[in-house]
Amino acid sequence: MPTPAPQSFDLIVKGGLLPDGTQADIAIAAGRIAAVEPGITAAAAEVIDATGKLICPPFIDAHFHMDSTLSYGRPRINASGTLLEGIALWGELKRIQTREDIVARALEYCRQAVAQGILAIRSHVDVTDASFNTVEALLEVRDRVRGVMDLQLVAFPQDGWFRVPGAEAQVIRALDAGVDVVGGIPHFERTMADGAASVRAACRLAADRGLMVDLHCDESDDPLSRHIETLAAETLAHGLQGRVAGSHLTSMHSMDNYYVSKLLPLIAESGVAAIPNPLINITLQGRHDSYPKRRGMTRVPELLAAGVTVAFGQDCVKDPWYPLGSGDMLDVAHMGLHVAMMTAPAQMRRCFTMVTESPAQIMGLDFGLRPGARGSLVVLDCPDPVEALRLRPARLAVVSDGRVVARGQPRVTQVVPFG
Ligand SMILES: [Zn+2]
Repeated sequence: MPTPAPQSFDLIVKGGLLPDGTQADIAIAAGRIAAVEPGITAAAAEVIDATGKLICPPFIDAHFHMDSTLSYGRPRINASGTLLEGIALWGELKRIQTREDIVARALEYCRQAVAQGILAIRSHVDVTDASFNTVEALLEVRDRVRGVMDLQLVAFPQDGWFRVPGAEAQVIRALDAGVDVVGGIPHFERTMADGAASVRAACRLAADRGLMVDLHCDESDDPLSRHIETLAAETLAHGLQGRVAGSHLTSMHSMDNYYVSKLLPLIAESGVAAIPNPLINITLQGRHDSYPKRRGMTRVPELLAAGVTVAFGQDCVKDPWYPLGSGDMLDVAHMGLHVAMMTAPAQMRRCFTMVTESPAQIMGLDFGLRPGARGSLVVLDCPDPVEALRLRPARLAVVSDGRVVARGQPRVTQVVPFG
């Protein structure tokens, strides 16, 4: 795109360091990045001095549950810590929470997320509640955060596509109401066959409507839970390449290695993306093991080596499944690189892209530090992505489509001199 006249720049971020280590100024006009080059001298309505600080694309959370966030302890805590007790507990909460409760909690979470530099979230929304409170609440939240944050909603039949009567109709009702993506939970159906049928139904529905698919897929320690194979095959059969994601894929951790050697090329061929959720996978999986205890997260380095797009998601913050969570995707990537043992410098930098560039690709968002992309970025109080992962430092500025939407201060602590 042509570089606008200098006086038309709305914002220039000066002196920052890009994730690849090069120094460049970034000029934004009309909500889009107009130039990325060193030494921009033009005037602008606003200038941010980012000398020596890391500038990165916005953080993106490709897997979250905004209808349950910040509900921890209501109506009780998850005593066993398991996925299944969490699902049962969520069923209890659904019966007592109002639409207003959900909206208030979700907006509070969005405020916390923007402060940490998250500017897009893909949230699954449970559509199986007959009241439809969850769907209506998150559609309202999606409207209210627009202009600051992109909220992409997945029609998620938490209690199963076939396991509860009417769930498929509720998925369709949610899509008709404006929910963006088709969801599912094949490992929670009554049988493997029902699970496979639910994968087929989700892909058929997405193909008919021109939508994306994101399934909770094989969130299990069962090495024979193989719905990812069906998801890859159905993606190819329905021509959905590049529009489908398998979230969790934890059963791959426990699968037979020979089988995985066949599965990985199939996933790559199908263009299905993987979204592991390290904070949750490391705490929910392996709960039935004694020692050695499985770690539950899917095979991230192997998926990357096979050419699969992988993004780390956060999944939960203070809800029936997880008592912690900070809304900081650097915490997520930090846990992910530890569990995946991706501690080589290039691997750590790759993990940083898995909470910035890769989720943008999966969600179809035009973010990135390049001319023409949306004018959204984060200034961090550190010089490079590895230091960002090590320190999870202050977000000095968060810019959304050319507008500064959050500012932070460096964290400073005074220490007495040593003798
Ligand atoms: Zn989830």
